[in-house]
Amino acid sequence: SALSIQLPPSPVGLFSLHILIETEELAARVSSLAAELTETYGDRPLTVLGVMTGSLVLMADLIRRLEMPLKVGVMQARSYRGTATSAGDLTLNLDMMPKIAGQDVLVVDDIFDTGHTMKNVLESIQEHGPTSVRSLVLLSKSERHEVAIRPDFVGFHIPNEFVVGYGLDYYDLYRNLPFVAALEDHEIASHA
Ligand code: 5GP
Ligand code: MG
Ligand code: MG
Repeated sequence: SALSIQLPPSPVGLFSLHILIETEELAARVSSLAAELTETYGDRPLTVLGVMTGSLVLMADLIRRLEMPLKVGVMQARSYRGTATSAGDLTLNLDMMPKIAGQDVLVVDDIFDTGHTMKNVLESIQEHGPTSVRSLVLLSKSERHEVAIRPDFVGFHIPNEFVVGYGLDYYDLYRNLPFVAALEDHEIASHA
């Protein structure tokens, strides 16, 4: 079903969306992810590292569901591409990352698509001497995986569609949508 709400205009003009994951489903899954994390870490201290900017909304919701002694940090991963249809050069910025030597670290990202971003992030994090590193993503597109690693925690497995909302952007817009929606196929094709 196409979305009937008014979206702010994008540089590529108007397009339609269909909702893949409703607000309530997101909230319920984030709660159960927090429960899985509590099972894994117990009340051991944890450092949660959000990969900006896509993980911003998930981070805000997830960390408020965690009750172990928690440190929160961010880093930035930027790949040069408008949509997610082609892999680009990846630049990591760790300037804002807290000290993680001797810490249990959980890397949080919005989506595991080809997996190159997460693979690179995990390799960089390892160089800083953490006790353990695990990864959590809201979404995973199994059809597109190109690396051997898989995230330790996945919110939802989704089909190979380009999605926005709940942190995910299209030309830096739509991160604030409270649901996850997919751009209609023919439109992503014509703008890719
Ligand atoms: P990967 O390196 O796993 O191919 O891509 C990971 C990054 O690409 C994500 O962190 C996200 O920024 C972007 N990305 C991949 N798929 C999508 C998508 O469907 N929608 C949006 N908005 N970004 C995506
Ligand atoms: Mg990203
Ligand atoms: Mg993006």
